[in-house]
Amino acid sequence: MGNIVAIVGRPNVGKSTFFNRLIQRREAIVDSVSGVTRDRHYGKSDWNGQVFSLIDTGGYVKGSDDVFESEIDKQVILAIEEADAIIFMVDVESGITGMDEDVANLLRRQDKPVLLAVNKVDNSKRLENAVEFYNLGLGEFYPIASTSGSGTGELLDALIEVLPEVEAEEESELPRFAVVGRPNAGKSSFINALIGEERYIVTDVAGTTRDSIDTKYNRYGFEFNLVDTAGIRRKSKVKEDLEFYSVMRSVRAIENCDVCLIVLDATRGFDGQVQNIFWLAQRNRKGIVILVNKWDLVEDKETNTMKDYERKIRSEMEPFTDVPIVFISVLTKQRIFKAIETAVEVFKNRSKKIKTSELNERMLPIIESYPPPAWKGKYVKIKFCMQLPTPQPQFAFFCNLPQYVREPYKRYLENKLREEYDFKGVPVSVYFRKK
Ligand code: GDP
Ligand code: GDP
Repeated sequence: MGNIVAIVGRPNVGKSTFFNRLIQRREAIVDSVSGVTRDRHYGKSDWNGQVFSLIDTGGYVKGSDDVFESEIDKQVILAIEEADAIIFMVDVESGITGMDEDVANLLRRQDKPVLLAVNKVDNSKRLENAVEFYNLGLGEFYPIASTSGSGTGELLDALIEVLPEVEAEEESELPRFAVVGRPNAGKSSFINALIGEERYIVTDVAGTTRDSIDTKYNRYGFEFNLVDTAGIRRKSKVKEDLEFYSVMRSVRAIENCDVCLIVLDATRGFDGQVQNIFWLAQRNRKGIVILVNKWDLVEDKETNTMKDYERKIRSEMEPFTDVPIVFISVLTKQRIFKAIETAVEVFKNRSKKIKTSELNERMLPIIESYPPPAWKGKYVKIKFCMQLPTPQPQFAFFCNLPQYVREPYKRYLENKLREEYDFKGVPVSVYFRKK
């Protein structure tokens, strides 16, 4: 289970510069919400081996100063509700502004850890100026320069200190399912259809993090935990910003589950927001099932409608296309059982453990018949392989020159693993190690 860190602050203080420094580019997810707000960024980062999700809440409405200000307040309130820690960024160049004071007021009145980052401290003169930020009443501050990276190490050390203890993902016996998707996709309806009457609820066990609650269900012959987050139960003070709220909620639910049931509205398709959720789940190495809901609304269903729809979704998922897609209608209860059955299968695929001897028996001949192509005149010899003892499938291939194995061959081995063993719906990692 990971922690979520939100970066808040007014525009132009350097939030995105800082974000980009911490996140590897390919890991970042950009969410451009219909031109109203600026891009919002999510990504994973780590410091000293501690992984966390970072959200740059940069989005704001362009308009009058009033709207502008309340928009920032909204972002801050959301961050307070949903994040585990908050980095509040200010700019030494401009000094304290009224907007900074407003944000500081909000932050002082709550309990989540706040780290005050004074940015653009490029030289010692500016370091002297930075002391004025004590006046915000948030205590200690961290002088940083996002462009050069100076001071960011100290800030991150302090951040790791205040983050709640992260428990390693335990191998749960019961599948933990998270139902995620855009607002109005039909998630609550789906959960209600699943839960049915109260008597199906077996127990209510407090989740392992202080915010999440796992509820155990026994339905359709399966036992599973539905990952709920406090955010779902709690009524947000800022309902208007549903999109952003749903993303924050999804981030947490995804981190806390084994399998994500991504619900989408068939009439809207696998659009940008759903793709973001998909990539988030994939990057977190979670099991994934796509549920195309409201299938009852799709008219003129000809023989190929479903196939064509499926093909379109898969083309957006490249290269990770080995994901089950189930067409459901919560309204008519069509294939609800199939949805759960599929999620259970994905859970099993994700917790599959293959014995080293059997793995080598199958994979070594495959490697022998198509060895890694020579690279810069070097030949790579793969000697043996094993599955790593992690909650999700990861495989290590031991060889003489791991650095010479290229991406296409890695993908080839992943595909072979998928052919030989069923890993449908599960991200599989392949590593090469020196032996
Ligand atoms: P955001 O709106 O808060 O995301 O701010 P940006 O990251 O877009 O940065 C706003 C401007 O401040 C850009 O022109 C950056 O190059 C600049 N900037 C960011 N960090 C630093 C810094 O450490 N020192 C200086 N001098 N400029 C910075
Ligand atoms: P959530 O925001 O994702 O939790 O979505 P809701 O469960 O609140 O559903 C949004 C709307 O879609 C509600 O009006 C539901 O009645 C409707 N809805 C949900 N599932 C279906 C479905 O399978 N078919 C149709 N036609 N409508 C549905």
